[in-house]
Amino acid sequence: MKRIYNFSSGPAALPEQVLRRAQEAIWDLDGSGIGILEHSHRGKEFGRVLARTERLIREVGGVGDDFAVMFVTAGATHHFAMVPENFLGPDTTADYVHTGVWSGKARDEAARYGRVHTAGTGEPAFTRVPTTLEWSATPAYCNETIYGTQFSAPPTGAPAPLVCDASSDIFSRPLALAGHGLIYAGAQKNLGPSGISLVIARKDFLERGRRDLPPLAQYRTYANEQSMHNTPNTFGVYVIGEVLQWIADQGGLVELERRNQAKAALLYAYLDQSTAFRPHAATDSRSMMNVTFRAATPALEAALLAEAEARGLSGLKGHRSVGGMRASIYNAFPEAGVKALVEVLDHVEHGRTSK
Ligand SMILES: *Cc1c(COP(=O)(O)O)cnc(C)c1O
Repeated sequence: MKRIYNFSSGPAALPEQVLRRAQEAIWDLDGSGIGILEHSHRGKEFGRVLARTERLIREVGGVGDDFAVMFVTAGATHHFAMVPENFLGPDTTADYVHTGVWSGKARDEAARYGRVHTAGTGEPAFTRVPTTLEWSATPAYCNETIYGTQFSAPPTGAPAPLVCDASSDIFSRPLALAGHGLIYAGAQKNLGPSGISLVIARKDFLERGRRDLPPLAQYRTYANEQSMHNTPNTFGVYVIGEVLQWIADQGGLVELERRNQAKAALLYAYLDQSTAFRPHAATDSRSMMNVTFRAATPALEAALLAEAEARGLSGLKGHRSVGGMRASIYNAFPEAGVKALVEVLDHVEHGRTSK
């Protein structure tokens, strides 16, 4: 059966090794005679899966004992509210770095629980991540999947622990945990299936959270009970473990960053010299994971999307809120697929379509 190049922004392409192993594990997990979807979360087999996934996250990411590793059965959007619900009171202020659609949604949720202050904004076009920041209190920031921007390094100068929505780029390069209180990421971009998120948080930061919320609304419950207060997304935890094993097999995060830079550079190099297509993000803010670009005319955009589809390149249409095109080229996306896209762009620009 033929698989095609999947540029989807999420759920997104996963490594072939992971899909093959998951196929087997659905039938029979590690010779137990029971598949991963059917094992009790309290049994020793799943206990091993959970421990292995956490160990690999710590090893691959260099996550020390001062941080808790948690799996929350929800997407990244859940944390837009859960973070301020835990850490923001009516008389406190949270700083948000406004990088686009996701940070805007996160900031709106925070306003339900306390005061919000915009420390910096990429408005109106969100072509670059804000760098001149005016902090007031507890900061949060975000790498923007939709506009295709990325912080080359975490923002500096914050007076309080940083909170990061790392959904679009977690484990695409070495983790920069210093200065962070909490990082969350929906799994469906770089880690595994949808409906589960990874949270890495400083244990002392978690202690500042409210204690009068329902247990599943408090981060500390996940930290104190190894994400097992209730039935976790067992399959999600399994797949994340396989993805982390794949990352380790590839040579770890330094090697993945090298590959991701090389893949993104191929595409940006084409876009930079093209007269028909132009990249959206400013050079200093470009994402390695989500390359956003526009065609000079709507006709050219339609021609590109049709030609791409005809050649088995799927998922290039940009987010409905922004338009244009977006090529999501996460960790698992192969360099050959990026080369195929450059070829299609070149053919469309120079009028050599397959029709
Ligand atoms: C995809 C994405 C989200 C939304 O994730 P859900 O799992 O749909 O809640 C939030 N933030 C960022 C940065 C994303 O890329």
